[in-house]
Amino acid sequence: MYELSRDLYRALKPSVIPDPRQPGRAERLLLAACEQTVERIARDLRRYPRPARHLFSQIRFLFPLQEQLQAYRIIEDHVQAALERLESEVGPDAGRATALRCASINRKGKPCGREPLRGSRFCPSHKHLEAVLPPAHRGLYVA
Ligand SMILES: [Zn+2]
Repeated sequence: MYELSRDLYRALKPSVIPDPRQPGRAERLLLAACEQTVERIARDLRRYPRPARHLFSQIRFLFPLQEQLQAYRIIEDHVQAALERLESEVGPDAGRATALRCASINRKGKPCGREPLRGSRFCPSHKHLEAVLPPAHRGLYVA
């Protein structure tokens, strides 16, 4: 997991606006935020539902406006890689990988367990449930 936060840092660093008054400060902030994010994904994914969005909100001010979309895409790709790595390491049934499971209950009353669609809490068979819930319950406004 450590290499992932380094990779993410290296991919983002070229776009950072340098701070002439405090050389290296922006880079240090970026590195710390990347490390914290990957660490939190590994440690406590269930209580960290939108890692890419959260990291982006923390560091977007380090990038010029025209680079922010690209920065967000880089973050998303690396977060996705971290999630996949975590799932392959701990297995789909591990408690902390719950965020990677569909949030629905099947007809037998058991958790669905299929992989959710990207950006959704539900798998393709249960995606209609997303539309039923009011927006606040979809976690869209959770930082
Ligand atoms: Zn499902």
